[in-house]
Amino acid sequence: MIPYLDLKRVTEFFHEEISEATQRVIESGWYIRGKECENFEMQFAKFCGTKFCVGVGNGLEALTLIFRALILLKKLNVGDAVFVPSNTYIASILAINEAGLKPILVEPDEKTFNISLKNIQEAFAKNPEAKAILAVHLYGRVIPGKELAKFAKENHLLLIEDAAQGHGAKQDEIRAGAFGDAAGFSFYPGKNLGALGDAGAVTTSDENLAKTIRALANYGSEQKYVNAFRGMNSRLDELQAAILAKKLPHLDAENLRRQKIAKRYLQEIQNEAIQLPDAGNAGEHVWHIFAIRTKNREALQEHLKLRGIGTLVHYPIPPHKQKAYAEWNALSFPIAENIAETELSLPLYPQLTENEISQIIEAVNAYRP
Ligand SMILES: *Cc1c(COP(=O)(O)O)cnc(C)c1O
Repeated sequence: MIPYLDLKRVTEFFHEEISEATQRVIESGWYIRGKECENFEMQFAKFCGTKFCVGVGNGLEALTLIFRALILLKKLNVGDAVFVPSNTYIASILAINEAGLKPILVEPDEKTFNISLKNIQEAFAKNPEAKAILAVHLYGRVIPGKELAKFAKENHLLLIEDAAQGHGAKQDEIRAGAFGDAAGFSFYPGKNLGALGDAGAVTTSDENLAKTIRALANYGSEQKYVNAFRGMNSRLDELQAAILAKKLPHLDAENLRRQKIAKRYLQEIQNEAIQLPDAGNAGEHVWHIFAIRTKNREALQEHLKLRGIGTLVHYPIPPHKQKAYAEWNALSFPIAENIAETELSLPLYPQLTENEISQIIEAVNAYRP
């Protein structure tokens, strides 16, 4: 059996370092808002190339806090429109709603699964009232960050990144998390940088924004029992921070391993019934998800299952077809719908062996629709 993701094996790889770190935190007697979190925040800001990082509870709250803080700082107003890709994971859209803003769905570039500069230019021509872009490094593919940042600046739009799938991805020397005004990260266990529970972070180089987010995430308080805003509780705890600080130094090597596996899939999967993802520039994408596409997805999924290979679909129902967004159900976003109908994710994690990768390639190549 080759499961889609074997988290037990991933954690086993870091066993000693994680045990050392958790033991230290357990014995310290200090579990929230301490030096472990501070240390990880410093490391992660440095890694991403931003001035600040604020550890928070999870990825959804990281994004929500960014939008709420931008409203408090009067850079956005409640009700403002925010562009977001129509094929994203629903959390991107929930964050916009949660902050009282209005999501405008934008179809992605079908080749990259991400929004391109052209997509945004067209959307902005139709919706000139929009005030921000939430760009998503979906599947670990870096966004065209420099182009989007330039367009955003010229048109007085804010650029926020959903980097929950993009830890370490880069365009030239700029990392995911450093292109826009702020970025939200998730350290959900299955992400490229994963905790052993829920965790997240915001990166930004705007000091005021970082300060506001830190206060908002701690009941709206900068000074204990003095509340400047109506905040929430969303904090990165010491245990998770210590674990993440142990894993972060390995992230580049792990992403390199992901790139090597992706390269093998791209070179060795040869099947007319299957469309491979665009290769992109080597060294850019961090392959959180290896998304292949095929017409009769369920048949391929069953074929692989019979050969002991686990797969997943990211994502079977696009946000505008979800019951949660009933008001959008009648709208048509053909690219997002087509991706949702045809996408299948192959196992791709650093701890896969060459032998397992070969098995997966052979099984995919043996598929006949
Ligand atoms: C995982 C994910 C999130 C949410 O992160 P959580 O930590 O699970 O709240 C947001 N956006 C994208 C694109 C994600 O993949």
